[in-house]
Amino acid sequence: MLEHAADFDIRPALRQEMMPHFLCPGCGHGIALRALLWALHELKIDKDRLAVVSGIGCAGRLSAYIDASTFHTTHGRPLAFATGLALARPDLHVVVISGDGDCLAIGGNHLIHACRRNLKITCLMLNNEVYGMTGGQVSPTTSDGMLTTTTPLGNAEPSFDACALATAAGAGFVGREVTHHVPKLKALIKQGLEHPGFAFVEVLSDCTEIFGRKNELGSSSEMILRQKSEIRPSAYRDTVDTPFRSTDLHTGVLTRNDRAEYGGAYRAAAARAKAAEAIKAAAT
Ligand code: SF4
Repeated sequence: MLEHAADFDIRPALRQEMMPHFLCPGCGHGIALRALLWALHELKIDKDRLAVVSGIGCAGRLSAYIDASTFHTTHGRPLAFATGLALARPDLHVVVISGDGDCLAIGGNHLIHACRRNLKITCLMLNNEVYGMTGGQVSPTTSDGMLTTTTPLGNAEPSFDACALATAAGAGFVGREVTHHVPKLKALIKQGLEHPGFAFVEVLSDCTEIFGRKNELGSSSEMILRQKSEIRPSAYRDTVDTPFRSTDLHTGVLTRNDRAEYGGAYRAAAARAKAAEAIKAAAT
């Protein structure tokens, strides 16, 4: 097992023909992609058994770079596409890559029900605090008082704590990490991939180009260090106080439960219905 992120050769896992990638220099989304591919490599998940579904936005573009079966779907709907895919093909590892706007605003309803349903899907939500690709508008995770193109006087809305929301909606596995800790992020994603039900992993990856500049947060490395200083490692929490983001952002595994996975329950119900039908047919 490789100890350092730099030792992992990412190139065989990428579609080289899609290079150069479109990410801005210093954007943490590339680090998140590396951590995901590293976790998949360590779990020896074959690309023929991997389906990556993404929505729209900077995070949504990442699926195009992964050498596997990938689906770049409509805004806010990757979890809906992934639900059909995971139900029809339980032999696949279905991974969703979504942004905070895609996952919590436009696709917020799908997220709540994916958590409640608990189908085996690993959902990676890259939280950059804005709608980066469309020019830096305010999103559900923009922190209090921060400047965006649509909040020039500072954001007055409370922001969502995405992990608290996923926990309250019933997700089987919930975790959060920053891009500063690549091995930790890889380990968290790996645990999410191994979880038998719905796994939600939030990656804090502030948009360096628009959000960072507008709020004068310094260089991308200074921004990553700022995020690191804001988090509080947490081994495990099974309850959350508020669905809104507090100044205490906990990282690590935040929630875990082993309730029944939806796909297995659905197939068992279908088998029971089929057996009952066969008994009825034999009796007539
Ligand atoms: S706009 Fe922001 S989130 Fe999008 S690639 Fe550039 S730095 Fe990353």
